[in-house]
Amino acid sequence: MQTSSDENGQESSSLAGNMVGLFSRMIVGMTIRMPRWFVGWISRRYVAGPDLEDAVKVMQRLSKEGACFTIDVLGEDITSMDEASFFLEEYKRVIMAISENHLDANLSIKPTAFGLLLDREKGMDNIEALVAMASSHDMFVRLDMEDNRVTDDTIQVMLDMHEKGLTNVGVVLQARLFRTIADIKDIAMKLGPNADYRICKGIYLEPSDIAHTDRQPIIEAMNTCIDEMLDTGAYVGIASHDHPVINHTLEALAIRKMGPEGLDPRMNSGDQRLHKGSGYEFQMLLGVRGPLRRKLHAKGHRTRVYIPYGEKWYEYSIRRLKENPTIGTQVAKAFLMPWTNRP
Ligand code: FAD
Repeated sequence: MQTSSDENGQESSSLAGNMVGLFSRMIVGMTIRMPRWFVGWISRRYVAGPDLEDAVKVMQRLSKEGACFTIDVLGEDITSMDEASFFLEEYKRVIMAISENHLDANLSIKPTAFGLLLDREKGMDNIEALVAMASSHDMFVRLDMEDNRVTDDTIQVMLDMHEKGLTNVGVVLQARLFRTIADIKDIAMKLGPNADYRICKGIYLEPSDIAHTDRQPIIEAMNTCIDEMLDTGAYVGIASHDHPVINHTLEALAIRKMGPEGLDPRMNSGDQRLHKGSGYEFQMLLGVRGPLRRKLHAKGHRTRVYIPYGEKWYEYSIRRLKENPTIGTQVAKAFLMPWTNRP
């Protein structure tokens, strides 16, 4: 059903919008009160499991569908540098597991989980240690983007790593933020063809003075960002399950003569990168819109699945629901109307 509701689940003028908002809040309220086993039952579609071995098994299974991967170790906001050390050690295990199992995978990390907000210097040391180890295994590291408190810091971490010669790192930008187009231009000036993005709508519901809050303007901003990134010669990971975004991307690629058939003909894009597509790839979350991902793969596009795993799956699921209640609606829709979204 097409509704005129905004992505915040906030009050919309239409009845349909109100219904969706009400439904979302109901789902969130209910889920938070549900027993842990029930939340676990729902989230096992979206989270590989508590252990690294679970993530490896999921990747081995989805490799047969032609997917490649990015791995996220789940964790809540950390409160001590000991927790940051845990993440560093766990991600080192991930690098070893990817190598030993010959998986086509890279890492997604949250800079705050490495201590960036607690002790900037040590946090940076932790990130550098991981990126250096990944580099020695020819592995890429993606810096996930969190809420607007850390946008500047996250971009700066990426620039600092490049300045140190560690170019196997790229950032996520969120199309809903007004600043993003300016960020793309700025990063293009600093990194040229070494810029490597994941572009997504942005999961955090940011205030209206810094971000788009309605569905259609967010889609339009996303499509503008994709065009801008492609035109600046960057590598672009399009992270979306939304048809207007995927369709726009396919058109944008065709206009630039990019696509599965050929190499990247852009004059400003640099050499083909190791373990990457020809200038772009599609990225989706584990458990979401599998048929669309498989269709893109069948047409020859590179498709990457985001694989979260970890002990903190419960806290992660509840926090995501509270941050963005529309996820509740999407999850409920996937279970009640499975034809709308199969894993
Ligand atoms: P939507 O209109 O939200 O979704 C389209 C359809 O996809 C929905 O109707 C539903 O059927 C399905 N769907 C989408 N999301 C879900 C879900 N969670 N559960 C069940 N069904 C769903 N955001 C950040 O802020 N920072 C990040 O670092 C970040 N990394 C991401 C990495 C990947 C690989 C992906 C795919 C997303 C990431 N996101 C991140 C989230 C992103 O910003 C969006 O919130 C999310 O992808 C939903 O937007 P959409 O474009 O898929 O469109």
